[in-house]
Amino acid sequence: MNAPNLAKMQELVRQLLVELGEDPTREGLLKTPERVAKALTFLTHGYRTRLDDVINQALFTQETSSMVIVKDIEVYSMCEHHMLPFFGRCHIGYIPDGRVFGVSKLARLVDMFARRLQLQERLTEEISRVVMEEVGAKGAGVMIEARHLCMMMRGVEKQNSTMVTSSVLGVFREHLATREEFLTLVKRT
Ligand SMILES: [Zn+2]
Repeated sequence: MNAPNLAKMQELVRQLLVELGEDPTREGLLKTPERVAKALTFLTHGYRTRLDDVINQALFTQETSSMVIVKDIEVYSMCEHHMLPFFGRCHIGYIPDGRVFGVSKLARLVDMFARRLQLQERLTEEISRVVMEEVGAKGAGVMIEARHLCMMMRGVEKQNSTMVTSSVLGVFREHLATREEFLTLVKRT
């Protein structure tokens, strides 16, 4: 996907400010359209990130077939319903089948899917599918715990709620013991 047209975005933000009852020519707002356009471009860079670039040369041969767990990967995304942030932590587990992922690449993988308009459920599934398919794992499990500003800022008495989603594939789905091992290992301590 091409980079967004910054000039066009700035004009749209300026119109939005007017519609909200603001004066875009007052000092504090003069550079706001430019800042918002740049911020939104960054926050959606996942649309313009290629999977090949993320996992390029990040797979290592490894004979082990014990479970690999990476916990507490920070997630910052935006809900597609309100374009408001949701944020939290992602835990990834998989059972390798000859290859493992470089650990830092898992964080970049999460970012690639999080930095776009998302649903937490879809984000969780997309990450698990890529771990499963690209690493060629025997099984994969992903759990995301996140708080949604669209609930916290607008809702009533929802300020402390956390949404938890999980997606399990392969042996994580087929074997109860494997799934339980994953869930126990990622459980908050
Ligand atoms: Zn929302």
